Amino acid sequence: MYDFIIIGGGTAGLSSAVYACRANKSTLVIEREAFGGQIVDAPTVENYPGIVSISGAQFASDLFDQAERAGAEFKCETVQKIIPQNGYTTVVTDEGKYDAKAVVIAAGCEHKRLGVVGEDRLIGSGVSYCALCDGAFFKDRTVAVVGGGNAAFSAASYLAGVASLVYVIHRRNEFRAEPTVVERVKALNNVRFITKAKVTELVGDDELTALKLDVNGAPQTLDVDGMFVAIGQQPDNGVFAPIALDESGYITADEKCRTNVKGIYAAGDCRAKTVRQLTTAAADGAIAVQTALSELLF
Ligand code: NAP
Repeated sequence: MYDFIIIGGGTAGLSSAVYACRANKSTLVIEREAFGGQIVDAPTVENYPGIVSISGAQFASDLFDQAERAGAEFKCETVQKIIPQNGYTTVVTDEGKYDAKAVVIAAGCEHKRLGVVGEDRLIGSGVSYCALCDGAFFKDRTVAVVGGGNAAFSAASYLAGVASLVYVIHRRNEFRAEPTVVERVKALNNVRFITKAKVTELVGDDELTALKLDVNGAPQTLDVDGMFVAIGQQPDNGVFAPIALDESGYITADEKCRTNVKGIYAAGDCRAKTVRQLTTAAADGAIAVQTALSELLF
């Protein structure tokens, strides 16, 4: 029986683990892919208070070290269901069953797909959702980034240093990304912007060769070798029943990160909230653990 099981090894989950371990509680972090979460993809982080500038990968690695040094245990497994019991919760994964007095769900979100013809077929063959992971495959080639938020601009900034030409394709004229970031990317001489544009279809048999676009109502074909989709995230919380979700699939939790089930908390991007940032993910981790400590008899 662990004191805490944290589901998800991103910023919220690892922050939860740091707080739980520092309270001297036995803590298991379960992550299905790679520890670090979505910030690993960000070339630079410049909006975390107290850290002037750091790569997302370094940030994630430091946070993992911090949790490990504090005493957290880690397992790379996929959670299949959670079973609230009398006074504890059983977490069932693809490899085992674990019990904990408190569970923090910090499962983050998945990359949203565009949902256009050819996208699923060409994933890994020109279509990617992670510039930092796959950018190197496009050295001196032409790529497109789809989206107008911070993730899209982060991707464009990184890819501009690898690819010969980067198109940023956005459905509106204004960008959601921070103005300073937008200005920095606009100043790069190998980045071009195509706005009021939607991708309608991907062209290519075995490899992506072009995008069909609707640019302000006019059809256009754009030759590219790669397309990086950065249009936001969506939750994947279905496996956590009976935890209540909102209409978009995010976990409904109160400001103390409590879900509808006693002893189960939600932290970070997987929960319904208005601001999804590193700072709010880390803050949720602290709040969820402090709430559990104040509510439960360990
Ligand atoms: P986001 O801020 O929600 O932006 C998503 C972008 O994709 C928007 O420009 C949106 O267009 C566009 N979009 C959404 N659905 C689309 C569709 N079906 N077709 C075409 N375009 C679509 O998401 P994000 O950039 O992934 O960022 C998520 C959160 O992480 C944000 O809070 C962001 O600030 C944060 N983040 C921070 C950093 C950092 O370095 N600090 C890096 C990455 C992300 P509209 O604008 O028209 O809605």
